[in-house]
Amino acid sequence: MNRFFDYLQTISQVNDLSCGLGNGRKIQWLFHCGMLFSSKVKWWGDFKFRQSAHEGIDIAYYRTHPDEMHCFNDSIKVPAMDDGIILNICDDFLGQTLVVEHKNLSSSNKRLLFAYAHIIPEKSLKTGLGIKKKDVIARVCDTYKNPQLSPHLHFSCFEISKKMARENLNWTLFSNNSDIHKINPVFL
Ligand SMILES: [Zn+2]
Repeated sequence: MNRFFDYLQTISQVNDLSCGLGNGRKIQWLFHCGMLFSSKVKWWGDFKFRQSAHEGIDIAYYRTHPDEMHCFNDSIKVPAMDDGIILNICDDFLGQTLVVEHKNLSSSNKRLLFAYAHIIPEKSLKTGLGIKKKDVIARVCDTYKNPQLSPHLHFSCFEISKKMARENLNWTLFSNNSDIHKINPVFL
């Protein structure tokens, strides 16, 4: 299965989002176009333009029945997409970001980093620590810093060169450095 869609299923399982649906039925994830990779529009407030193209995917909405839409809140647990290592924990404009290196499953030898953003990491996590697929690594954070936005998980994938120092792996680098190649998580 595609890695990103597998990850959506993991989020659903860890949080028991399909609870009560029965018969193995799955929830449906919902995305406004402004939540998608490289979108130039906002999915909040005035729905006008973002300051720069979106560096990842925002995950927040799902439905359990055709007329029952749900949104994440700050109790949503964030699982790890795969086994990996925590390279950095840094601030973002809503909460914190975990920068994780997951194994690259493709045949190339490129180095892939993943940013789980707008979260509150589990207290036991430290840089250098190994994590396992489906481990709960964080909770989605509340959005009191920008109440127009609903709580959501921002998920990014970056391809970097080997030589970057761990402590520099943060949003200043991801947003401004043209050597960072941003990858659409849907095509992982
Ligand atoms: Zn985002």
